[in-house]
Amino acid sequence: SSSDDQLPAFLKSGIYRLNDANAFFINPVRVLNRSYTRCRVSASTYYSRFFPSFNLPPENQSNSPNNSKKRKRRQKEKTKVQYLNSREEMADRRHQDVRSVLLKAHEALLGETQLLEKLRCLRNDGERCNVESISQGTELNFVELGSVWQASFYEIMLKLHEDDTTLENAGVGSCELLFNNHIGNDGSDDIEAELLDRKYILPKKSSFYMSDLKQIHNLIPAEPDSGFNLIVIDPPWENSSAHQKQKYPTLPNRYFLSLPIKQLTHSDGALVALWVTNREKLRSFVENELFPKWGVKHAATLYWLKVKEDGFLISELDLFHHRPYECLLLGFCHGNGMNTEELLGLNNIPDNQVVISVPGDYSRKPPIGEVLMEYVPGRKPARCIELFSREMISGWTSWGNEPLRFQDARYFL
Ligand code: SAM
Repeated sequence: SSSDDQLPAFLKSGIYRLNDANAFFINPVRVLNRSYTRCRVSASTYYSRFFPSFNLPPENQSNSPNNSKKRKRRQKEKTKVQYLNSREEMADRRHQDVRSVLLKAHEALLGETQLLEKLRCLRNDGERCNVESISQGTELNFVELGSVWQASFYEIMLKLHEDDTTLENAGVGSCELLFNNHIGNDGSDDIEAELLDRKYILPKKSSFYMSDLKQIHNLIPAEPDSGFNLIVIDPPWENSSAHQKQKYPTLPNRYFLSLPIKQLTHSDGALVALWVTNREKLRSFVENELFPKWGVKHAATLYWLKVKEDGFLISELDLFHHRPYECLLLGFCHGNGMNTEELLGLNNIPDNQVVISVPGDYSRKPPIGEVLMEYVPGRKPARCIELFSREMISGWTSWGNEPLRFQDARYFL
């Protein structure tokens, strides 16, 4: 079976290809751990959310709910279906188009019994006796920290490790201004940093720039050949959910029109990957206004299907407002050399690929960089940046108003 060949590789890489289904299963903890040599990402703090179970066999998940609460909900949705306005109709059409692709990917996952077994112990993945090493206390709120008048004085101390005498770690052991400043770890080991009595872990060969959107132009490289080949963007889209409002500030769509995607693009071109919600209004804004304004040409769509540790979907596939999946729109932005058509021709991305994973913290996306890498234009290693990031990854620049969020030592062993 494909499990026999793939399981050992999956345990190392965190990525499992579901054959014949154009799909992957990802364990983000294992993927992220490849950025670290001394510390390890803690699975129990990564998988901090619990999802209510609706214990139906997968073939029934979208067909015949058997309890009355669910039946009522379904009926409500059904009545709604009769009165779909044109926007809802469009959203429903998109959903119907991708439904079979998602079901096929999910079925492929459910067919991998050995993989499913591994899924069940995802949360305590090798963590038996490490609980005390997780640091306690409250996490820093960087969004708040960055908005006070003292913000420009805050410093972070990059700590020297006993055996860090190498030249590549020249900056380690120094204090750096926290906001509006490029801070990096060029070394080939992760390092520890200290800020207001809390510890942060910076992965090898990574950097961050913490600022508000107003300062994003500071990221624009002086030379086009020091631009980026892979640009992942997860904007703080406005959303009616009150829950989201407490988690991070959001911005109206028009703010994203001015993101300097063209100026961040490497002269060899860039693959641009944009996370979007399932709201139809947003999808049409991206297609008709945002991508054209950025100079990005849409190439393919990738879907992130969310499952629980038992392999079931986190919610019913056909629930109109709670889809168990999100979309990543992929497109190309050309540099000086090739035009977009040539880039599209050279890097043929299969449409409707599916990435399956168990979700971590609220709105936290799985690390999809490696899945995308084969479609990234230009020389390797590719230069990668994530905009509106909350974490750091080896080989990447992270920008946002809280890129250290998930680097707090409490997320590590
Ligand atoms: N991709 C991230 C992850 O997987 O954890 C989630 C990103 S979340 C959707 C959007 C981020 O944008 C939040 O961290 C939010 O604080 C940040 N943000 C909101 N307004 C911002 C602004 N004006 N400037 C910079 N970042 C901002």
